[in-house]
Amino acid sequence: MSENGQELISSSSEPNRPDRAEALRQAVVEGLRYTHSRLNANTSKTLEASSFLYALIELLEEKGLLSVAELDQRKRIVGERLVAQYRQSGNGLIVQDPECDKYNFSETVEFDCAERVHLCRAACCRLPFALSRQDVREGVVHWELGQPYLIEQRQDGYCNHLDRCTWGCTIYHQRPVPCLAFDCRQDRRIWLDYENRVINPEINRVDWPACLETKAVHHDP
Ligand code: SF4
Repeated sequence: MSENGQELISSSSEPNRPDRAEALRQAVVEGLRYTHSRLNANTSKTLEASSFLYALIELLEEKGLLSVAELDQRKRIVGERLVAQYRQSGNGLIVQDPECDKYNFSETVEFDCAERVHLCRAACCRLPFALSRQDVREGVVHWELGQPYLIEQRQDGYCNHLDRCTWGCTIYHQRPVPCLAFDCRQDRRIWLDYENRVINPEINRVDWPACLETKAVHHDP
């Protein structure tokens, strides 16, 4: 297409960058406004419910119908039960625990990735894991908006940050601790026999993106 043709298309069908940035900003502002109003409404309801509950406990104690020690003991048991239910529901935030500083992480696993990735097809970059607070604050690693704070994966099942054509990690120097620490050698989901290069045949049953089938391999950038 001619240079002029490109100019025509870009000026007629694409909004310019400042417009797009402003539209994006407005969308974020609307989203934040909604989140803040929900938060405010939920806080009011929580305060109201807490007032009723504390008033009820005080009355029951005054009338000698319960003791605070008994109540504390029961509260701990019920609290543990509710936390377990909440975790099972998948609604809570998921973060790395315990958390390590990735820039001072001393247990990075190094092995001959580049020699083997044509067999394993970067299967490790399809495993889901939780980010750390450090990753989230830093804002480089993308997380699943619908499931905070799991690493973002695309529809093909791979991490968003994997270069589909070179097998390289596009955020290599900021990659999270699970990427630094993961050792696939004993992981039977990937290798049936690492030393003898026997891959688990299950990983070949996946529909791989076309460019991953043919390109040369290197897992580092
Ligand atoms: S951050 Fe990089 S190394 Fe970690 S899973 Fe994603 S592509 Fe792979």
